[in-house]
Amino acid sequence: CGIVGYTGPRQAYPVILKGLKRLEYRGYDSAGVALLNDGQLNVYKKKGKVAELEEFCTGQDLNSHIGIGHTRWATHGEPSDRNAHPHRSQGGHLAMIHNGIIENYAQIKKELLGKGYHFTSDTDTEVLLNFIEDIKTNNNCTLEEALRIALKRIVGAYCILLVSDDDPETIIAARKGSPLVIGIGKGEHFLASDASPIIEYTKEVVYVNDYEIAIVRPDELILKNIGNEKQTPFITKLDLE
Ligand code: GLU
Repeated sequence: CGIVGYTGPRQAYPVILKGLKRLEYRGYDSAGVALLNDGQLNVYKKKGKVAELEEFCTGQDLNSHIGIGHTRWATHGEPSDRNAHPHRSQGGHLAMIHNGIIENYAQIKKELLGKGYHFTSDTDTEVLLNFIEDIKTNNNCTLEEALRIALKRIVGAYCILLVSDDDPETIIAARKGSPLVIGIGKGEHFLASDASPIIEYTKEVVYVNDYEIAIVRPDELILKNIGNEKQTPFITKLDLE
């Protein structure tokens, strides 16, 4: 189980794929990527090894400078293509990856089903994603605000990365209990579960703390706590050894 994200001038897919391979040692049963290009959100995901995802992606539209990738260790729903991450929100505009467990997903799912939501996977992750979308629609607020409201209601552990097709540069990340490292490059940012996918690009990283939300753009890293107060990112220099 691992996550990788990239936003910047490079092609995102090769960075993400290589990162997922670096995280393979953590163990997983499926893998996937979401790539955003010109308002078009392409999601490719597969049960099995990263090599199978890579084969599946061959010949697909992979052009993108922002993307998120995931290796899954199934907790809710069998390992399968449809339960693999990234998931898309019902409206289709958001894609999200998640490591961890949402403990109270059944209650939230019940509420969403009552509102007419339907689900294409058995995961707790898709419930959280549609919960965020529902809050955003009802409150007519930003994705960041919707995420903050959602996180206050959920119980569990998570590292999530979110992209939206109406925001061509931004990855929104949040964590509690599952690790998240952000690598700071020149006009680019890398996100991952640990530093191993990042170290070849930059030695400057920020370890995100529990209950923090990161708004990550090529030239900007904003860290906030769940109360919407800005936090100063603490930059750590990675040791080369
Ligand atoms: N609970 C999520 C699922 O079963 C995420 C599992 C993980 O950490 O990879 O899909």
